[in-house]
Amino acid sequence: MSIERGSALPSSADVVVVGGGVVGAAIAFQLARLGVTDVVLLDKGEIGGRASGRSGALVRTHYPNMDEARVALAALPWFEEWPDRVGGDCGFTATGFLQMVAEPDRPTLRSNVALLQKIGVDTRLVGADQINELQPQLRLADGELAAYEPRSGYADPLATTRGFASAARRLGATVLEGVEVSEIMTAGGRVRGVRTAAGDVDSPVVLLANGSWSASLLSPLGIQLDLTPIWAQVAFFARPPSLPAGRAGQLTIIDRAHGCYLRADGEDRTLVGLSGSRRPLEDLDADHPADPKFAELARRQAALRIPALADAPSLGGRGGPLDVTPDRRMVLGPAPDVPGLYLAVGMSGGGFKKAPAIGACMAELIVDGKASTAPIEPFRPTRFAEGEPLSGAEYTLPSDGVYPEAFDELSAQGLIH
Ligand SMILES: Cc1cc2nc3c(=O)[nH]c(=O)nc-3n(C[C@H](O)[C@H](O)[C@H](O)COP(=O)(O)OP(=O)(O)OC[C@H]3O[C@@H](n4cnc5c(N)ncnc54)[C@H](O)[C@@H]3O)c2cc1C
Repeated sequence: MSIERGSALPSSADVVVVGGGVVGAAIAFQLARLGVTDVVLLDKGEIGGRASGRSGALVRTHYPNMDEARVALAALPWFEEWPDRVGGDCGFTATGFLQMVAEPDRPTLRSNVALLQKIGVDTRLVGADQINELQPQLRLADGELAAYEPRSGYADPLATTRGFASAARRLGATVLEGVEVSEIMTAGGRVRGVRTAAGDVDSPVVLLANGSWSASLLSPLGIQLDLTPIWAQVAFFARPPSLPAGRAGQLTIIDRAHGCYLRADGEDRTLVGLSGSRRPLEDLDADHPADPKFAELARRQAALRIPALADAPSLGGRGGPLDVTPDRRMVLGPAPDVPGLYLAVGMSGGGFKKAPAIGACMAELIVDGKASTAPIEPFRPTRFAEGEPLSGAEYTLPSDGVYPEAFDELSAQGLIH
């Protein structure tokens, strides 16, 4: 996709979307789909250049909180029907997904699966025999129990993000890279546009989809958003020969018993992440190089589930910034007290899979005054001040799958789950 850098900035728009990650790109696309084609999507770097392009990009609907599960469920058909709905290829591969848990969490898994089935998620409990049929290379505990989703898998994070931006552009949106919004302009208490070094864009509607960076644009307006920036990473390994090759050669797995998640990556690699291994991030724009210590830990934890990974050659990794809210759930809705300003931030490490539906919900909110794709009221920015943070029946995380120093600090702040 060719995107103009810093040039051709319009002086006005119906809607300005700040941040060209998967969330902002999906919103611009969904707005244009609803007929709001005078949309300007601005990114200070490159489309998909931060968290979105570096995501693990697991696509699943298993959540211990049903509000989140509803959004993830509404997003899934967008991945499944991407060529017809968006155009091109987002690399979605329906490998099937297993949510695995430690023995003490089995009752919670059972009750979460029952709740998920009630809201229409295609999931079921599977025991050792069925898991063995799905993927014989897994090491299983006595009485192993997992939740299986046949429709889930993973996508290509950069292709998805840039695919949304390209589709938005085809529908008439303006997509610009290298344009940083330095200020949200207001008049008479409501939004009137954005300021950039390349000029102002007048607009009655501004939507922030720029992760942790949003906090510094909001504070001059008197809005304090509690977002903690955290660095998350994934490691790649040569797929062991005992696992099938191919994009769907292995199940996509979140393994809470060992604190890791795994999926196929391309034809012959395996991607591994660690749910608890996150590091505080002081400089939002800093890039941390792939960390060999992380790769070692990831290999060790993943090999507890797939023993063949113990000797798999390391093929590097990548990382990106997460924007974590106090209840580790996203913030969606109108900003308090500033008409015309909307927020879609605080994805807390799970924004990729939900982005297509977040885009639809935010577009509906702006156009119709109400989201119809999924209920987003629970994610309203004011919930913290109202004393109504979100919760769910979470699974425990083992302490051996994390950097001990970061784990203690971040879990004490409630930032890991
Ligand atoms: C290693 C890793 C693994 C992950 N695994 C998964 C997973 O398996 N499944 C899942 O669902 N999620 C996963 N996530 C989380 C997911 O990738 C993020 O939640 C999602 O990409 C966030 O998208 P975003 O658009 O909100 O943010 P970003 O992609 O960070 O985009 C924000 C954009 O805003 C731009 N910006 C900032 N300030 C300004 C400004 N002032 N003006 C203009 N532009 C600005 C930035 O340049 C950036 O491009 C993972 C993340 C990481 C890092």
